[in-house]
Amino acid sequence: MFKYYMETYDFQNPKEVEQAFVKLLNRPLDTVEQLESWLKEQSDLKEAIDEAMSGHYIDFQCQSNSKEAKDIFEHDQNVIDPMYKKYLSLLNDKFLASNLIGQLDPTFYQPLIKSKQNAKELFRLENIDLEIKEDALTTKYFEHTGALTVQMDGVELTLSQLAPFMQDPNREIREKASTLAAEAIMSIEPELQKIMDDLIVIRDKKAKNADLSNYRDYMFKEYERFDYTPVDCKVLAQSIRKYVKPLKEKLQKEHQRELGIDTYKPWDVLAVPTGQTPLQPFNDTNDLISNSATIFQNLDARFSELLKTMDQRGMLDLNSRKGKAPGGFCSSLPLSGLSFIFMNASKTHDDMITLLHEMGHCIHNDLMKKQPLSDYRETPMESAELASMSIELLTMNQWNLFYNNEDDLKCAMKMQLKGIIQFLPQGMIIDQFQHWLYENPTHTTSERNQKYQELMQELDSNIVNWDGQEKWRQITWLRVLHIFEVPFYYIEYVIAQLGAVQMYKQYRENPDKALENYKKALSLGSSKSLPEVYEAAGIRFDFSEEMIKELMIFLEAELSGIESL
Ligand SMILES: [Zn+2]
Repeated sequence: MFKYYMETYDFQNPKEVEQAFVKLLNRPLDTVEQLESWLKEQSDLKEAIDEAMSGHYIDFQCQSNSKEAKDIFEHDQNVIDPMYKKYLSLLNDKFLASNLIGQLDPTFYQPLIKSKQNAKELFRLENIDLEIKEDALTTKYFEHTGALTVQMDGVELTLSQLAPFMQDPNREIREKASTLAAEAIMSIEPELQKIMDDLIVIRDKKAKNADLSNYRDYMFKEYERFDYTPVDCKVLAQSIRKYVKPLKEKLQKEHQRELGIDTYKPWDVLAVPTGQTPLQPFNDTNDLISNSATIFQNLDARFSELLKTMDQRGMLDLNSRKGKAPGGFCSSLPLSGLSFIFMNASKTHDDMITLLHEMGHCIHNDLMKKQPLSDYRETPMESAELASMSIELLTMNQWNLFYNNEDDLKCAMKMQLKGIIQFLPQGMIIDQFQHWLYENPTHTTSERNQKYQELMQELDSNIVNWDGQEKWRQITWLRVLHIFEVPFYYIEYVIAQLGAVQMYKQYRENPDKALENYKKALSLGSSKSLPEVYEAAGIRFDFSEEMIKELMIFLEAELSGIESL
């Protein structure tokens, strides 16, 4: 297997890794200088381990049917990661016990100290075994969903490969594709529900072990959400219901009129009107890469250089194929100083957006390289997604490279802005659903499905007619891998999207200044709090009703601006 990542330790010989930790743990810390260089060494060791573990994870995602890749990945999960967590916690204890902490420069070290204190409060040795079980269940989820294929007109397709059919102007084709996708998910519903049941039990136990009343509170601490509370999330959900839902309903009614249909069914939501063809921004992934490189060149030469280097080094796995896990992500390889992009392209507009989005994460990783401590290069998702979602919008004025037809270009730009309006309510549903799952850990499967449906009714547009597809509606959440793999990771998309719209607003007013602020803010990593990072970007970390209202007025005006271009 070609290696695009570095392995400095032999993970098959865990003693070797352990010795590196023991050495650090036994180091005397008598002066502030010793303490600081000890922190730096710890940071280097973490980088080495993170790089190899990320590499193994990527290998497995790229070939989820390879026994070799699976064995290596599972060895990490079962042996390396538990040991890693145990020693990180011991190193944290040693750090916090040092009476030299008070002599460290607080302007630089305060966030690190706060983070380590929080980790200490949360850490329980007995949770490590539970996390191994949790990881195994997540792996099972990917095995079930990754193996899923359907027969569309005699051709075997993965669910990602079905995506273009959902936009087809021919209503029968869309209905068929949607039905196949929904039936495929329903065929594995019992297995996925069982995985969710088991996950909830384990996660609830972890929270109780850490003396917290539920797993939601546990994850708020785990994600270091120091700047907002669960109540703020509920407030945000209501602000979005008040100002975004009506706008989304208006847009869907317009879409329905454009399609000329009496009832707006689930398979119509993404449809392209008759006479138009679905957007196809590229013919193959080479086009996608080279056009993106040109776009990035015009924003910043470094951005473009990054993409080209990753391509040359085999760090882009873009095409969809059987045996590959679903989804898309960017993974940092800190030792190599680069990132890996994984996605399942099938020539759609979404695929183009995915690459630009994931590149935003790569750019962010690159901007943070100057941060001396690896802890400060691990950013919370509220800023990580700000980096990626902003790039989607800041590249929009160059999409003519993908769309030389003016109508296609306008359509793509409108789709991007409408996509934000369509997403925000959905993002809140996934968030509020997870709050409910863990606030009520003893619920049944049918209560769970019922709750999801209720949240859709409350927060999302009610233009879609689900008559006869009630069951589909209830189980849409089974395809949201975050709920299984990275619980509670979703509100960040909403928060960051609100930040990205503000970045875009700023870019429309002053592109150079906006880009400068973007780079300045994101290079801070997590060395500053979220409100400080947002402030450096020239935007507000604010999800009040007024803010949502203001941004929706801006988006609506932008949409009509594109119309009259
Ligand atoms: Zn992202």
